[in-house]
Amino acid sequence: MESAWEIEGFERYSKLKEDTEADVAIIGGGMAGMWAAYLLSKEGKKVVLIEKDRVGRGETLYTTAFITEEIDTDLVDLLDIFGKKDARLSWQAGREAIDLIESVIKEENIDCEFERGSLFVYAATPEEFKSLEAEDKLARSLGFQTKLQKDLDLGFEHDGAWEIEDQAKFHPMKFFKGLLEASIRNGATIHERTEADRILGKDPMKVVTKDGAKITARDIIIATYKPFNNPAPTHFKKGMYVSYVYELRIKPGSVRRGMFEDLENPYHYVRVDQLNHKYDRMIVGGEDHREELKLPPKKNFTALDEYIKETFPTLEYVIASKWSGKILEPSDGLPLIGPVEPHIYVASAFSGNGMTYSAISGRILTDLIQGKPNVYTSLYDPQRSLSPKALLKKAKDYGGEFLGGAAKNIFK
Ligand SMILES: Cc1cc2nc3c(=O)[nH]c(=O)nc-3n(C[C@H](O)[C@H](O)[C@H](O)COP(=O)(O)OP(=O)(O)OC[C@H]3O[C@@H](n4cnc5c(N)ncnc54)[C@H](O)[C@@H]3O)c2cc1C
Repeated sequence: MESAWEIEGFERYSKLKEDTEADVAIIGGGMAGMWAAYLLSKEGKKVVLIEKDRVGRGETLYTTAFITEEIDTDLVDLLDIFGKKDARLSWQAGREAIDLIESVIKEENIDCEFERGSLFVYAATPEEFKSLEAEDKLARSLGFQTKLQKDLDLGFEHDGAWEIEDQAKFHPMKFFKGLLEASIRNGATIHERTEADRILGKDPMKVVTKDGAKITARDIIIATYKPFNNPAPTHFKKGMYVSYVYELRIKPGSVRRGMFEDLENPYHYVRVDQLNHKYDRMIVGGEDHREELKLPPKKNFTALDEYIKETFPTLEYVIASKWSGKILEPSDGLPLIGPVEPHIYVASAFSGNGMTYSAISGRILTDLIQGKPNVYTSLYDPQRSLSPKALLKKAKDYGGEFLGGAAKNIFK
């Protein structure tokens, strides 16, 4: 599979061959595992991170790297399921994550094309505009900087757009490499081609690898995207989707630079950046469907192509790469971050917001392991029960996604 974000210059790290000890063992070398490794090693913890393949080649390589406080679950639904305080907290966590990402980029001098800017969610029909009005009203009442604009020139037709100011984007692999190198400078140890097989014992626990080496640690973080050992508290709380992405080369100025999303079901997301003096890079993604529906990828890429032609009818473009990736959706709209049993933590079900949730989970788990309070612990607690409202909403969404996406694309 291709990705727009492939870069050179990654060190290779040795396989773990002998038993070792750590304060914290981290399983999984993607964005989430690396954030935890960085923040914990910065606090002086002895960190050993193991990765079954090579670091940074999981779903993190296939992201589109919008960094937003607005999340895949509508604010109106968050209010309905979790109440006003938690709806506000969930956006506030995203806001703080954007600031944390920017401060680490500055502190560690990471050259990664980080750029602040607005996210525009646009309506294609008057009904969709009504739902944006409700989102905007609620966001502003909760204290966030958003605005609705009916006649905004985005360079393509729409029925009104909701602007969420001061969001961000970056080159995810350049950032990831910087975070990895900073973690190593802080003293973290990384082992590649080292797959966790099981967790044994209590106080201290051991992570046993497929090859039989053991890491004895007081705390263990499972950051394997979908928890590798399927802990009971996470059962029935997530569902896997597949999303499709095109990377296009376009003439500078032919589409406004920035981040855009629509409200179709399944939805589309577009990001336009300056690539060089000759081209802009336009990333267009979407047409998501449940993983269990084994659709031939060609049909979904065809649907994505139709979206591009309908939305940008005069656009001249060349396809530079295309890929698909997996998105793990939480069943009630918020991720699973925290302990599944004493001293064993997960960071999972980030939906399409893993850039902020990786930073958020790194911060929460570092605080929990140090015994410090963190205002977000109960919000993302993986042991929470799913409310009937959340389950009902998920069933409704699934019906809509199936008819709007999977069923529609079968006939492409
Ligand atoms: C197409 C697409 C678009 C996206 N767009 C956005 C976006 O615009 N903004 C946003 O915020 N998020 C987005 N996301 C989501 C985001 O990319 C992910 O949530 C995030 O990268 C997940 O990071 P991770 O570290 O949890 O997982 P991964 O990067 O998958 O890392 C997990 C690692 O664990 C390793 N592993 C698995 N099992 C074991 C084991 N037993 N032992 C050792 N290692 C193991 C894997 O090899 C892997 O390297 C997108 C995702 C996709 C697919």
